[in-house]
Amino acid sequence: MLRSTLLAASRSGAIRKLVESTPLTRPVVKRFIAGDDVDGAVATTGEVLADGRLVTLDHLGEDTRDAAQATATVDAYLELLGRLRDAGYADRAEVSVKLSAVGQFLPLDGEKVALENARRICSAAEAAGTTVTLDMEDHTTTDSTLSILWELRVDFPWVGAVLQAYLKRTEQDCRDLAHAGSRVRLCKGAYQEPASVAYQDKSEVDLSYVRCLKVLMKGEGYPMVASHDPRLIAIAADLAAGRGKDSYEFQMLYGIRPEEQKRLAAEGNRMRVYVPYGDEWYGYFMRRLAERPANVAFLLRSLVTK
Ligand code: FAD
Repeated sequence: MLRSTLLAASRSGAIRKLVESTPLTRPVVKRFIAGDDVDGAVATTGEVLADGRLVTLDHLGEDTRDAAQATATVDAYLELLGRLRDAGYADRAEVSVKLSAVGQFLPLDGEKVALENARRICSAAEAAGTTVTLDMEDHTTTDSTLSILWELRVDFPWVGAVLQAYLKRTEQDCRDLAHAGSRVRLCKGAYQEPASVAYQDKSEVDLSYVRCLKVLMKGEGYPMVASHDPRLIAIAADLAAGRGKDSYEFQMLYGIRPEEQKRLAAEGNRMRVYVPYGDEWYGYFMRRLAERPANVAFLLRSLVTK
């Protein structure tokens, strides 16, 4: 109930204005977001890399209906990639891109614009010596995002995909993507989805996650296990027995279970942290609140104790 209320609020312009205009939310936002600008993003990247973790950076923003805004997002990624290269981080830090932030929802030729914009980001990533992963958004975008992925992979075979275990289609998508050279991030899924397309019970989502993991771990691709769930992490480690430690990786979000992130890295695992930055934090932040009621309590406590 709380989850669906928060996810509905994540799409509400009025609640967005209210939350963004309350300065007291800032300390809580800071727990999950690396900073407002590229300087903060690069500084945080340096800190995370220092203890052996890897990074994927997300320039926050989504659902743009404005072509100029989509171009500004591409420019922000190009600047970021240049900064990662100059800092010597590009061998360990890549970028994650939401296609809806680079034009997928534009009324005129949205998919075409998003493809061209994503191509520019991929070219810059290749020049910098790193990679790109396409984040996955709600189920209405899955087909479009996967078709753009296939197009990009013609020129940039290293572009990573994201699949969401809560979608009933995902086991088949895992089979389609579990081939040599294919980088696939498997997550549970963060959006509010109808029962016609997505499992609604947490236990059903977890079972689907394990089925999908089995397909990816048996396949010849590069699985990226994105979860903070201790049971799923243990199952992934078991399923990976026999694979080289450099043939898959764990992934977690910035600000969530950092000690576990460090432990996994210290044990010789590839452990990548998803680091979001920028001032368009509202949607991302609300999805993090929705995942864990304790985060809402943390936010409320910080509001009343100030
Ligand atoms: P849960 O069952 O939600 O959590 C397991 C445990 O992890 C909790 O008990 C708690 O201890 C901890 N935890 C989980 N979430 C939080 C939180 N917000 N705050 C504090 N503790 C928490 N989703 C998409 O739909 N598209 C994407 O492209 C996408 N990319 C992602 C990339 C990465 C690297 C990661 C880690 C997640 C991504 N997600 C994405 C989000 C994902 O779908 C889940 O919503 C999120 O990871 C929570 O699921 P979980 O597997 O951690 O399990």
